[in-house]
Amino acid sequence: MNRVALFPGSFDPFTRGHEDIVLRGLRLFDQVVIGIGNNATKKRYFPLDVMKEMIEKTFVDYPNVKVITYDDLTAHTARELDARFLLRGLRNTTDFEYENGISQVNRYLYEEIETVFLITSPSLAPISSSIIRDLHRYGQAVDNFLPYSLSELKKAEQDI
Ligand code: ADP
Repeated sequence: MNRVALFPGSFDPFTRGHEDIVLRGLRLFDQVVIGIGNNATKKRYFPLDVMKEMIEKTFVDYPNVKVITYDDLTAHTARELDARFLLRGLRNTTDFEYENGISQVNRYLYEEIETVFLITSPSLAPISSSIIRDLHRYGQAVDNFLPYSLSELKKAEQDI
């Protein structure tokens, strides 16, 4: 059986914490599809196409990792991909409260879906996309939190 997991998120930006979830997910699933949710009403800090390119670069050596963007309900996107699993990371109880709600809704929308939660590796638990955005906005170096370099990201931004 081909076990496909969709790892959905905003990934604004994709961090070392996210990378860790994908790499650990690959031990459980045959394929991990990273789905960048494109919510037209939410303005992004890092452009969608640039982030897709950075994530693809991160997993260039992993043929069983695929990156997509989607503008639909996560459950419906999973169904279209024939993915029976959603992959999510849990850092703390705040994540748990939020994730608990969305996983119930996702099963309501797509009965066969199971959300699989991986507890964050301790060294990566403090990393969050919103903190990285704040640091970057005020000129602080954030390379240590990202699995690709910021100069690559800037170059991709200029090319688009
Ligand atoms: P969303 O906007 O859907 O919460 P995010 O891009 O913020 O999307 O996060 C996607 C998933 O990655 C979520 O399950 C989140 O809990 C998880 N995540 C975020 N940061 C980390 C981290 N440092 N370690 C592990 N998982 C994380």
